[in-house]
Amino acid sequence: MAGIPWSSEEIELLQELYPKLGWSCHLDIGRSRKAVNVQASRLKLKSSLGSGRLKFIDTYAEQIKHKNLIVLEEYKGTRVSILHKHLDCGTEWSTRPDYILNANSSCPKCYHNYSDHVYLIYFEEFDLYKIGITNNINKRLKRYNKTPTLIYSINLSNYDRARDLEKQLLSMVNLVNTNLLNDGNTETFKATKEEIKELGKYFA
Ligand SMILES: [Zn+2]
Repeated sequence: MAGIPWSSEEIELLQELYPKLGWSCHLDIGRSRKAVNVQASRLKLKSSLGSGRLKFIDTYAEQIKHKNLIVLEEYKGTRVSILHKHLDCGTEWSTRPDYILNANSSCPKCYHNYSDHVYLIYFEEFDLYKIGITNNINKRLKRYNKTPTLIYSINLSNYDRARDLEKQLLSMVNLVNTNLLNDGNTETFKATKEEIKELGKYFA
């Protein structure tokens, strides 16, 4: 079974997409999965996704479940932006899976519009303080690898004001990046009890 010969456009597309998408690029090319695989092996193309790709699709959906995120487009590899949806607020936006997986990136609307609380916490294990903003302090604190003590928090009911206060507070401390936390290491610092008390005035 020879099939219809491949055009140079199809070959080009295959050479471009197969390394990223594996056989699933057959949808873009308009060929059968089998035809794509045969042609790819003829051209000695290798897919970085290997045969584990399907398994990883499930894994990716699984991995973002806890953030209440779903994907509305077919997964095409970690570096190819696809449409996501945040079930809490209904926002749909395009982003790269690796941004969701590796960074702490989540729904842009919830992050930008609703982060209105500024908090100062203390990690006793590391003798380390941290300042941050969030829209939900209890939820946020649970996402750290160590349980912090909440020292101060204030709800400014406005993202810009929360961001401004956070910036101001961060400019007043000597930030140290210890890499001890699973996230947010750039906003940590050491301080004396007196210095913390001074910062407390901004949470009043
Ligand atoms: Zn959201």
